[in-house]
Amino acid sequence: MQALYRVALLPGDGIGPEVIAEAVKVLKVFEQLNGPMFRFQTGLIGGAALDATAEPLPAETIAICNNAQAILLGAVGGPQWDTKRPELRPEQGLLQIRQRLGLYVNLRPARVLDSLVNLSALKPELVRGTDLVIVRELSGGIYFGNPRGIFSKNGERTGINTEIYREHEVERVAHRAFQLARLRRKKVTSVDKANVLETSRLWREVVTRIGKSYPDVELEHLYVDNCAMQLIDRPTRFDVVLTNNMFGDILSDEAAMLTGSIGLLPSASLGEHQALYEPVHGSAPDIAGRNRANPIAAIASAALMLRYTFRSETAAQAIETAIERVLKRGVRTAEIPGRKRPVSTSRMGDLIAEQTRKEYQALSAPPSRGRAKGRRR
Ligand code: NAD
Repeated sequence: MQALYRVALLPGDGIGPEVIAEAVKVLKVFEQLNGPMFRFQTGLIGGAALDATAEPLPAETIAICNNAQAILLGAVGGPQWDTKRPELRPEQGLLQIRQRLGLYVNLRPARVLDSLVNLSALKPELVRGTDLVIVRELSGGIYFGNPRGIFSKNGERTGINTEIYREHEVERVAHRAFQLARLRRKKVTSVDKANVLETSRLWREVVTRIGKSYPDVELEHLYVDNCAMQLIDRPTRFDVVLTNNMFGDILSDEAAMLTGSIGLLPSASLGEHQALYEPVHGSAPDIAGRNRANPIAAIASAALMLRYTFRSETAAQAIETAIERVLKRGVRTAEIPGRKRPVSTSRMGDLIAEQTRKEYQALSAPPSRGRAKGRRR
């Protein structure tokens, strides 16, 4: 029997609805091939929700998300809402949903595709073969600790933020990193600043202890400054990079730049019971509504959803291989340099959907004699 999965779609603002439509197009391919089927429910978030309900995350959207097994989000924000009070800005919708759903870990893969190796800001020989995932703690650390604020004393203002990590917060994100490494090349690099910060010393102790339960996974520790340097100098040495909220925020943008285009990068935010998948990019107001956006980050986010929430590795691989093959043929959207006649958002979606169909059929077919099993990359 075909599995039926419940997915909440939150297209959001700007190019969000355009790229989510292409992700849905690709997911629908599996239904016709006896693969996973999806029941989609669409909700408002961000500026679109503010315009309709005066709230960035309406109660109805929260109900839709609670009723779903996974959430696929486009992007939020745009200049028309920039003058709103901070609590009424579209970005609040995103922060609130992460908190409401208890999403405490963010995964950001960064893989340099051979066909796009020249797009990287670094030399091709340095980045070729890069395939890493940043595992960032998402709900603790200095972004949430108290006391915080700007206080005046003796006529001078002082800004204060507090970094706090409790053991259980480090334990749960560390388990996620080691489990992920087991599915990959079995190496975790834990990144901290244990030579200076107490929270980092605790982080290192806890990660070392949790690592003992995963003897098949290699664990190394790096200071964040050293990690930032090595990401540029030797990015291929990394597999899973585990780190706290602020270091992860910075290192994941650095890792993204290794790959060349922001329009390609997916992400997953996971909690105990719920998960949200979204492109790394924003709502790109400068190109919104013009069928010019690259839908690949949204489509690749749908692949992560199939892998991490629905455990459908074959379908996830079919999408990822399809993306790679379409790019290898030289098909490009407008933001990727080097193509005189770029394709539109919907054309890119059509081509990836078509290729996904072929890849899924090939991967699902019983192996014939003489054909190699395993990943077709
Ligand atoms: P952005 O990522 O939206 O755009 C940066 C540049 O990259 C723009 O030139 C844009 O055209 C281009 N770009 C982004 N995605 C693209 C794609 N898929 N295809 C082709 N080109 C693409 O970042 P920004 O301009 O700093 O922010 C615009 C709005 O998005 C702001 O309101 C910001 O707050 C919001 N934002 C939202 C999220 C999110 O929803 N997760 C993340 C970042 C920014």
